[in-house]
Amino acid sequence: MLSTAASTWDAIVVGGGPAGSTAAWDLARRGARVLVLDAARFPRVKLCAGWVTPAVWQALELAPADYPHTLQPFSRVTLALDAEVRETCWDTTAGYGIVRSEFDAHLLERARRAGATVREGARVDDLDLHDRRMVVRSGGLEDTAPLVIGAGGHHCPVARRFGAIATEEAVVVARESETHVGAAVLRGLTPRHGTPELFVEPDFRGYGWTFTKGDFLNVGIGALTSGRDLHARCDRMVERLHADGRLPASLEIQPFKGHAYAIQTSHPRRIAGPGFLLAGDAAGLARGISGEGIGPAIESGLLAARAVAEHGSDAPGAYPHLLRSRLRHGRQSALGRLADRLPHAWVEHAARCVVGSAALRRRWILEGAFGMRPSHATAVRDQAQMSTGAATWRETTHE
Ligand SMILES: Cc1cc2nc3c(=O)[nH]c(=O)nc-3n(C[C@H](O)[C@H](O)[C@H](O)COP(=O)(O)OP(=O)(O)OC[C@H]3O[C@@H](n4cnc5c(N)ncnc54)[C@H](O)[C@@H]3O)c2cc1C
Repeated sequence: MLSTAASTWDAIVVGGGPAGSTAAWDLARRGARVLVLDAARFPRVKLCAGWVTPAVWQALELAPADYPHTLQPFSRVTLALDAEVRETCWDTTAGYGIVRSEFDAHLLERARRAGATVREGARVDDLDLHDRRMVVRSGGLEDTAPLVIGAGGHHCPVARRFGAIATEEAVVVARESETHVGAAVLRGLTPRHGTPELFVEPDFRGYGWTFTKGDFLNVGIGALTSGRDLHARCDRMVERLHADGRLPASLEIQPFKGHAYAIQTSHPRRIAGPGFLLAGDAAGLARGISGEGIGPAIESGLLAARAVAEHGSDAPGAYPHLLRSRLRHGRQSALGRLADRLPHAWVEHAARCVVGSAALRRRWILEGAFGMRPSHATAVRDQAQMSTGAATWRETTHE
C-alpha cells in the first residue's frame, strides 16, 4: 500500500470536516500516507446546533475532560409543542454542546499530528479514475492515490463526479445563527442555560431549537420543506422567542444562514464504487428524524479508514457491509417507515401521542432519534453513576 512520489498517496481524503478528519486520523495512525484537501481554512464556520452524543467521544477515543474548547454537558432537554413545554431529565450527562468551528479545527489538527498531510484552502475542482488510480486536481496541483474518501459534505465533489446521489433523496433545509453573547447575559435570558430547548413544528415536518453553550447562543430551525417555507417558519420561531423574552430585540445576533443536507432514507446514496468511498454528509448518513449528522460522520469516517487499511483496493466492496453493520444505511427507522406510509394527519396524531408520553418521548425521540443517551464514556462522575445501574429519569410538565 506504500508509495514514494511526492504527489502520490495511499489515500486522499476530500473534505476535512468530522468525517474526513477522523478518516485521515485513523489512516495516519495506522501508518498510511494520507492527504486531506479542504476548500476552507480552519477554523471555519460550519452551520450546526453543535450538540453531540456521548457515543461521539467514545468513537473519537477522546475523553470530554481532555477536550480543550467550549464544552457544555447537559442532562435535561425541553421539548415544546404549541403552548406546552415538556422537560426530560436524566440523572447523568445525556449529551454535550460544542462549537463547530472549534471542534472541527481540533479534529483536523489531531489528524495532522497523527501524520496526515493537510492542505487547507484547496478546493477540489476535478477528479478522474485512470489505470486504477484516482487523479485529484485542486488549485493547479495534481495528486494521485488508489483510493479517495469523499467527505466533502452535502455537495461533495466525489459524490457528484461519480453520480452517487439518489434523485429521490430526502433533504433537510436548515437556518441557523450562532453568536458569542457571554454566559452571564445568557443566564439572565433563560433559566435553562446549557439545556437544548427544542420547538416541534405543529405539522411535525421539522423543529427549531435554542441552545446556550457556555458563552454561545445557537438558534436554528430545520425542516423537510422548501427554502421559502423555512424562512417563514424561522420568522415565526424568532417572533415566539422575542415574545417570551428569551431573545430580546435589543440583543444583536449573527444573521441567519441556510444550509441543506440529505438524511437517511430508503433511497440511499451509492456510497462506494471503483476508487472511491463516501463518508458523512457526502454519503447522506444523517439520522432521519433528528438530523444528527456528526456521530454518523465520525463513525463512517472510521469505517472508511478501516476498509482502506484492511482491504486495500477492495475497500469499495467491503465498506458498504461494514457501514450496514454499524449504521442504518439504506434502512429507515421504524418511526420513519411509519411516517412514510401513513396519511400525514395520522402521523401528526401519532406524533402528538408520542410527545405527550414521558416514556415514549424519552425512548423514541430523545434517546432513539437524537441519541441523547447516558454512556460510560462520559465524565468520571457519570461513570460511577452508571456502574450502579441504568440511568434514571423523571419528567415535569410546565404549562
Ligand atoms: C443548521 C444545522 C444544524 C445542525 N446541527 C447538528 C447538531 O446539532 N448535531 C449533529 O450531530 N449534526 C447537526 N447537523 C448536521 C451536521 O452538521 C453534519 O451532518 C456534519 O457536519 C457532517 O460532517 P461531514 O464531515 O460529513 O461534512 P462537513 O462538516 O460539511 O465537512 C465537509 C468539508 O468538506 C469541505 N469541502 C466541500 N467541498 C469541497 C471541495 N470541492 N473541495 C475540498 N473541500 C471541500 C468543506 O469545506 C468542509 O470542511 C446540523 C446541520 C445543519 C445544517
